[in-house]
Amino acid sequence: MDLKYDEAELAFRRKMRAFIKENLPDELKRKGEAGFKWKKEDGVKWHRICAAHGLGAPNWPKEHGGAGFTATELYIFEEEQALAGCPPISPFAVKMVGPVIMHFGTAEQKEKWLPDARNGIDYWCQGYSEPGAGSDLATLQTRAVRDGDHYVVNGMKIWNSYGHEADWMFALVRTSVEGKPQEGISVLLIDMKTKGISHRPIITIDGSHILNEIRFENVRVPVFNRIGEENKGWTYAKYLLGNERALIAQIAASTKLADRIREVSRLEKDGWGSRLADDPAFRLRLAEIEVELEALRITNERVLYEAKSGTAGNGGAILKSKGTFISQALSELMIEAVHFYGTPWVLAALDAGANEPPVGPSYAKGAMPLYMRQRANTIEGGTEEIQKNVIAKQVLGL
Ligand SMILES: Cc1cc2nc3c(=O)[nH]c(=O)nc-3n(C[C@H](O)[C@H](O)[C@H](O)COP(=O)(O)OP(=O)(O)OC[C@H]3O[C@@H](n4cnc5c(N)ncnc54)[C@H](O)[C@@H]3O)c2cc1C
Repeated sequence: MDLKYDEAELAFRRKMRAFIKENLPDELKRKGEAGFKWKKEDGVKWHRICAAHGLGAPNWPKEHGGAGFTATELYIFEEEQALAGCPPISPFAVKMVGPVIMHFGTAEQKEKWLPDARNGIDYWCQGYSEPGAGSDLATLQTRAVRDGDHYVVNGMKIWNSYGHEADWMFALVRTSVEGKPQEGISVLLIDMKTKGISHRPIITIDGSHILNEIRFENVRVPVFNRIGEENKGWTYAKYLLGNERALIAQIAASTKLADRIREVSRLEKDGWGSRLADDPAFRLRLAEIEVELEALRITNERVLYEAKSGTAGNGGAILKSKGTFISQALSELMIEAVHFYGTPWVLAALDAGANEPPVGPSYAKGAMPLYMRQRANTIEGGTEEIQKNVIAKQVLGL
């Protein structure tokens, strides 16, 4: 197995780096460098710039207007974006619902939804989890009852990211209570402006409003908006979850954070007044995490190699499990590096345009919110215990 990038891939990396350098607006670059919080508009703006250059949906085949990148090219493009500090592009449209519509939708559905998903026009959210259905998703209760050429939807979704800002939701709904729970689920694409949809914000421990509780009261959804067959939604949902897990490894973001911690450790002092960077215990901690990160990078290259050679395994769960462990460990180390300056809780300082100076050095202002945010890594997209179950069964064959 040769894990090295070949000449063509190295040339591709140079091309993507040049594209980003030329096209990332200064204002977004400055915002990223200053450590301000990204907003929906930032990611949308960058998505539309990429789309204008044929890169709005790098993972889609060319026949659907995508760039037709291989898994390796996609990884390289994303790594370059993260290293250059580009705002993240929402994965819901391009990486999650898009491929499902492409694989299981009709020609009319592809025509209706794919162009605006690819071009960053429609903003999507995911409506899977419910109060009693997270890991055990198949027990979901949101009901969709057929009424002529519509479904009438009643129920509730929870932990829904960005539903308050989204134009569309891809939702799992129960269309039958017969047989096994998995056999009565369908996928509906729901226009978030439809009468009967309301949301209640869930403010997370890091002070953000990303999550929502979404209620459906007699929401009428055209039957046209059902993807694939009625009651076969579980198959489509699983297809989508596989794509979701591979997204959460955050290798490039962790590489950047490790570099940042090293920079900070040259400026901060340890308990005896020496540079933190000269403290052997601190250096050891950082080195241990970086060794794990290097192993993750190699695992990722192995997963990419398997994809290239058509022997794809179940690497997504391994990448997610190790990737989240590393990003959490780094966010913890950043708190140690900035000492007391990690404790002031001035969330306004994270907003671009904030006019109060941060308490302490500016690199410290995001440390605690990041630490808090990363706690969710081992829950979102499938909990750590569920990833371990997947690895045990599907990778190790136990
Ligand atoms: C930041 C964030 C964003 C999210 N965004 C979305 C979104 O946009 N859309 C959406 O639909 N959902 C979203 N979720 C929800 C997420 O998918 C669920 O939280 C997750 O699947 C876990 O479900 P649960 O919260 O119901 O926990 P539960 O499933 O109730 O789990 C509780 C505990 O029990 C453990 N457990 C459960 N089953 C097993 C088992 N079989 N073996 C061993 N241990 C087990 C779990 O690991 C966990 O520790 C988001 C969650 C977070 C934190």
